[in-house]
Amino acid sequence: MSKNLTTREEDYSKWYNELVVKADLAENSGVKGCMVIKPYGYAIWEKMQAELDRMFKETGHQNAYFPLFVPKSMFEAEEKNAEGFAKECAIVTHYRLKNDPDKPGKLMVDPNAKLEEELIVRPTSEAIIWSTYKKWIQSHRDLPLLINQWANVVRWEMRTRLFLRTAEFLWQEGHTAHATRSEAIEESEKMMNVYADFAENFMGIPVIKGLKTETERFAGAEETYCIEALMQDGKALQAGTSHFLGQNFAKAFDVKFANHEGKLEHVWGTSWGVSTRLMGALVMTHSDDNGLVLPPNLAPIQVVIVPIYKSDEEFAAVSEAAQTLVSQFRKLRVSVKFDDRTTQKPGFKFAEWELKGVPVRIAIGPKDLENGTFEVARRDTLTKEVVQKDGIVTYVNDLLETIQQSLFNKALDYRNSHITKVENFDEFKDVLENKGGFISAHWDGTPETEEKIKEMTKATIRCIALDRVAESGVCVLTGKPSEGRVLFAKAY
Ligand code: AMP
Repeated sequence: MSKNLTTREEDYSKWYNELVVKADLAENSGVKGCMVIKPYGYAIWEKMQAELDRMFKETGHQNAYFPLFVPKSMFEAEEKNAEGFAKECAIVTHYRLKNDPDKPGKLMVDPNAKLEEELIVRPTSEAIIWSTYKKWIQSHRDLPLLINQWANVVRWEMRTRLFLRTAEFLWQEGHTAHATRSEAIEESEKMMNVYADFAENFMGIPVIKGLKTETERFAGAEETYCIEALMQDGKALQAGTSHFLGQNFAKAFDVKFANHEGKLEHVWGTSWGVSTRLMGALVMTHSDDNGLVLPPNLAPIQVVIVPIYKSDEEFAAVSEAAQTLVSQFRKLRVSVKFDDRTTQKPGFKFAEWELKGVPVRIAIGPKDLENGTFEVARRDTLTKEVVQKDGIVTYVNDLLETIQQSLFNKALDYRNSHITKVENFDEFKDVLENKGGFISAHWDGTPETEEKIKEMTKATIRCIALDRVAESGVCVLTGKPSEGRVLFAKAY
């Protein structure tokens, strides 16, 4: 099968768009900015969901579901949040169509079916959830309240890219309420750590944990924690956020609890989310010019077996050996596919599974049956080796773990070699233009300087890394004093 992928060197952005479509992950739909997630892509998303869901439940959270529509007055209650999202809201104003008298066969909005109050299609659910929490929380015994929901949200984005930035996206959003400030901060940090653990150990994507600056902070939050990843083209991607909301939403929605002394206090909140953007992060971290490279943890098919044969007899013999392998792999809970299509040649199948990123391919031909060996190919390194039939299942199972680890290590090496310290603005621009990646630089701490640097270079402050060391210096742009370095990058 011909892949005809643009190479990353030629045009990274084009490579990404083509790969997402050709590997059957997603495609554009008739609505600008909205995508169709195809079964193969959705299977990967389901694996992410399953693991995250397990991690959320292990940390004491429960799932619930809240409505898609938020009445405008409710949406407005927390002013900063409403203002922050106002520019990208979809609004429902009517609830009925009728036949258009001037255009036979066409429908028009029925002017008599105007809603008394407009409904906002949720861009995030704080408003509807906090208005509900008012009913659920009365006493310290009702706290902490630890809820997550899996949902879709709509943000009317102007510049969209499959998975990375869509107008409608799938995500999970955690919303928690606590009795004290310190408990809420602890929760925000805990969930950032859950995200980092998931990104690194499940997706093989190294991340930097940090705090957003005031400019990049979630509207309505006191503090936004984030995990930032670096893509192969040297651009950063915000992979997840966890917000400490202070008492902002509790005050806006009048959510109070009686403390141990019976005194009423506003509760403290957090919210945190990751989205289908993680699919984009996955593609842009590991894949190559031959197609997807999937870490075994996320691969819908971990091992594919391709038969090599000429005659029907050979096909029968090879199939029998393949079926034995399949049942052995299933016992170990390895997801395996025997590609027994007789309509395609082995070369086509090799290319197709390579494009789809299946971590391990086993080829079995008549010679292998004679020799008691199989050919095992790794997708990540594109290397092949001949492995003895006995013990092959354990061998491949171990190999899957090796591949998982090796993908992370490779991405980590790339990331670490793309964090560059600079001391002045010329160096800053030079690294940004010629190398990319994170730039570790001193900043005077003002939004004005941050904005100026963004205007001049398109680079933004990705985060103030949590593990940064205190170091006095001078701002790369203004020369004013700085207490420590922050990480700049161009970002998706
Ligand atoms: P936020 O509520 O803005 O903190 O975003 C929560 C998560 O959704 C973050 O991980 C974002 O990176 C991600 N996200 C934000 N906007 C989009 C979008 N348009 N498409 C996909 N993911 C998004």
